Amino acid sequence: MIKQIPFTITLLITFGVFFYTIARIISFFRLTRKGFPVRDFGKRFFIMMKVAFGQTKIFRKPVIGFLHAMVFWGFCVILLGSLEMVIDGLAGTEKVLKFLGPVHNVIMASGDIFALIVALSIIIFLSRRLFFNISRFEGIEMKKRSHRDANISLSLILFLMISLMTMNLGYVGYQQTAGGSIHGAYPVGHMLVSIFPAFTAESYNVIFEASWWSHILLIFFFANYLPYSKHFHVFMSVPNVFLSRLEPLGKLTTMDSITREVNLMLDPSTAYTAAPADAPVERFGVKDAEDVIWKNYFDSLSCTECGRCTSVCPANITGKKLSPRKIMMDLRARMKEKGPLMVKNGRDYNDNRSLLRDFISEEELWACTTCNACAKECPININHPSLIIDMRRYLVLEEASAPGELKAVFSNIENNGAPWQYSAEDRLLWAKDLEMNVN
Ligand code: SF4
Ligand code: SF4
Repeated sequence: MIKQIPFTITLLITFGVFFYTIARIISFFRLTRKGFPVRDFGKRFFIMMKVAFGQTKIFRKPVIGFLHAMVFWGFCVILLGSLEMVIDGLAGTEKVLKFLGPVHNVIMASGDIFALIVALSIIIFLSRRLFFNISRFEGIEMKKRSHRDANISLSLILFLMISLMTMNLGYVGYQQTAGGSIHGAYPVGHMLVSIFPAFTAESYNVIFEASWWSHILLIFFFANYLPYSKHFHVFMSVPNVFLSRLEPLGKLTTMDSITREVNLMLDPSTAYTAAPADAPVERFGVKDAEDVIWKNYFDSLSCTECGRCTSVCPANITGKKLSPRKIMMDLRARMKEKGPLMVKNGRDYNDNRSLLRDFISEEELWACTTCNACAKECPININHPSLIIDMRRYLVLEEASAPGELKAVFSNIENNGAPWQYSAEDRLLWAKDLEMNVN
């Protein structure tokens, strides 16, 4: 009971704060547009197993990819052990899943081994960030706060793993010295006990209890810290991969608003069904956070800021201002800024700022070649070009704003039915003097 009451209170507070955060995020999703219907669940499940759980895209960088995959798989295994801790904390039991026998042994042993592997991987990740100049982690969008956030999250994971290892050390040491039976297998725990054999049973027990509480409190804190950090991808990346775009990457989606307008022109009798008189005037394309479809916002919350997209972007590589990672980070930042105000004052709230220009410049948008290298490289299948194109659509359709070369193309299409400046009658002039055998 001594343990159960404070544990239950802490768990309730954790869930309370967590659900408050999730409700807040859902209210921001409500501000976004519909679109991106989710079908083909079988295909999506296959992609999720391959890309998210198989970590296939991560392995394109073999060494660091392998370490990242270890951390991901380690998290999945350790999660099972954490579940047992929560049940133990609530029920006042000890190793409640021990009835699973050999399965319990496997879960405990893999958690114990992965704790060491994850800790070593995190030390390598932290060292890279702190002592090496990795160009992928730099860029105009990577402010001090981004680096600090990454370092805090990595440090928290490291402490989580250390507390898990010391917990197993305390458990194995205590059971061995007090003559109790050990439930589960703990190879690393046994190894650590052989390194620190001089403790009394009492001391081992203190180590166990202190580590148990540190570990579980860190989990609770981490779960609530994640939604406010780039490491929110711990929760978001698997569903985001499940929600991957299934069409070929280069395929442009049609705009419902334009389709509706065209249908109205072709058949005005559809006016009442297509757009009721009191329907709000819809904006063409994306100017601000509320104009994006929910999937764009989902993408932005899932972004790990790893910079793999920017590192392959031809525009960025050739010195242009565009960074696909920044596009995702800017959408997230803009929604964080305007979302609460729209929730409070209504969706039409105007703070005289917008995603376009105050966050993302026209120069960045027009620098994109729509090559889709960013979307192909992203380990969690984020699609940047779809948002970039929708922002360009706003510029062209609502502001008639486009680079001079494009404006010439547009007027040629309008006047000549082709992108060139020659009239349709002159199109075959180049063949006039050619001798052609038509037989
Ligand atoms: S699609 Fe655009 S943003 Fe993505 S890599 Fe190509 S140029 Fe860069
Ligand atoms: S969009 Fe994808 S590749 Fe780019 S930084 Fe985010 S997670 Fe990494």
